[in-house]
Amino acid sequence: MKERNNDFGRVYLVGAGPGDRDLITVKGLNVLKNADIVIYDHLANTDLLKEARTDAEKIYVGKKAGTHTLNQEQINDLLIEKARAKKIVVRLKGGDPFVFGRGGEEALALNKKNIPFEIIPGITSGIAALAYAGIPVTHRSMATSVSFITGHEDPAKEHSQLNWKAIASMHGTLVFYMGVRNLESIVLKLIEYGKSEMTPVAVIQRGTTTLQKTIVGKLGNIIDQAEKADIEPPALVVVGEVVSLHPDLNWFEKKPLFGKRIIVTRARAQASELAVILESLGANIIMFPTIKIIKAEDMTPLDCAIKNLADYHWIIFTSVNGVESFFERLFQSGKDSRNLSNNKICVIGPATADKLNSFGLKADMQPDEFIAEAIVDIFQKMDISGKKILLPRADIARADLRLGLEKCGAYIDEVIAYQTCIEDDQDEKVMERIRSGCFDLITFTSSSTVKNFIQLIGQSNLKQVFSSASIASIGPITQKTAESYGLKVNIQPEKYTISDLVQSIVKYYK
Ligand code: SAH
Repeated sequence: MKERNNDFGRVYLVGAGPGDRDLITVKGLNVLKNADIVIYDHLANTDLLKEARTDAEKIYVGKKAGTHTLNQEQINDLLIEKARAKKIVVRLKGGDPFVFGRGGEEALALNKKNIPFEIIPGITSGIAALAYAGIPVTHRSMATSVSFITGHEDPAKEHSQLNWKAIASMHGTLVFYMGVRNLESIVLKLIEYGKSEMTPVAVIQRGTTTLQKTIVGKLGNIIDQAEKADIEPPALVVVGEVVSLHPDLNWFEKKPLFGKRIIVTRARAQASELAVILESLGANIIMFPTIKIIKAEDMTPLDCAIKNLADYHWIIFTSVNGVESFFERLFQSGKDSRNLSNNKICVIGPATADKLNSFGLKADMQPDEFIAEAIVDIFQKMDISGKKILLPRADIARADLRLGLEKCGAYIDEVIAYQTCIEDDQDEKVMERIRSGCFDLITFTSSSTVKNFIQLIGQSNLKQVFSSASIASIGPITQKTAESYGLKVNIQPEKYTISDLVQSIVKYYK
């Protein structure tokens, strides 16, 4: 990928897709991962920047209606300058670079200076947002053509470049980009040149994102409707019979958690599982990691246990992190999974079981219930009196499990395998948003997520924070912690797993 011209770098004009970060092409993503410099604008999903190398320079040249950080000529100059510095430059543009994206102008400027460039197409919003709104751009017997039209030009101005007579007489689908501000004049022009007031029209705002909003009407009433719905750019105006398919095909906005703003408070490294599932159900995720997993300060007890593995009858893993830290240390000591061949292994929860499997081991036991009392009950029935049990855990783990097992006559080595602390690397904007209560639901997946959340946000702000938002807790202990701060928990699954938590959230909103 990194083929270089002797004199210059290379510029890739890459279509980032319409908003949903997964709607970039494989080729676009590959060059993005390889770039020395990424130059992006406001329509490209900034999540994509995380795909670039951490040492890649990222330059925002965003253009929002009315505000420009750099003008087009300055952007062209920047591309030329960076390419001349022999850099691999990715110019990341919303949708497709050649569809109302000024990609042509940038390519011409590069060509003029003999700078090698490539164009990597993207899915233009005029196709993608319609797909997410359940409006096929063409459809047999309804539309045999589609036109992409700029709505930027005020149709009321005297010398329009657009041939409104021709546009109004077309039977295919009309898709207007940049047309929200001129919606009224566009509609009036179409009617003036003969389009029926009964022609179906849709306006799609922020298509393909969890903030998508689609309104549907007729040419005769869409102006009022758009005003009522407070439609803002970026949005597309779609005119044509195909809009009538929207009620049947509107799949995206019907997702069970569509548009719900949900805070995920888990540690950054662990949050993605929950975030990805919620997002796939249409939720708008606010990442607010409250916990950070760090190495145990003193590894000696764990190392000592690993040295004497043969002494233990059982090893009980209560978390994914416990498994990870244990095996990291096991491997560092020169041992591997075969050294556990004589130990019986118990895991708490399916995610912990999966993690254990990833090291080639199957658990001998996986209790159905995850609270200490239930686990102790099972061990009691097996008569563990006099047996040695290893419990690799977090520094903040509750003592109940150890105490319960000790009561059954077992010798317990509870060793600290990892520590947790409060995540203090926070985005101020996100904190502000949370403080002002701009979200629908928060998920707490452990007592420490509750405690740290409150420490970060401030106890005195809680009333405002939770004035209208709901709370989901993974289990009874977490719920108790939340209640001890005066918070009311609305959602709590019967089983304490991430997938049960998600199911309960979906049920709550049904
Ligand atoms: N190159 C882009 C278009 C840039 S022009 C593309 O191919 O999509 C900017 C206009 O595109 C906006 O004013 C709006 O009309 C449209 N647009 C871009 N992204 C959009 C989105 N997610 N939802 C609705 N319209 C969008």
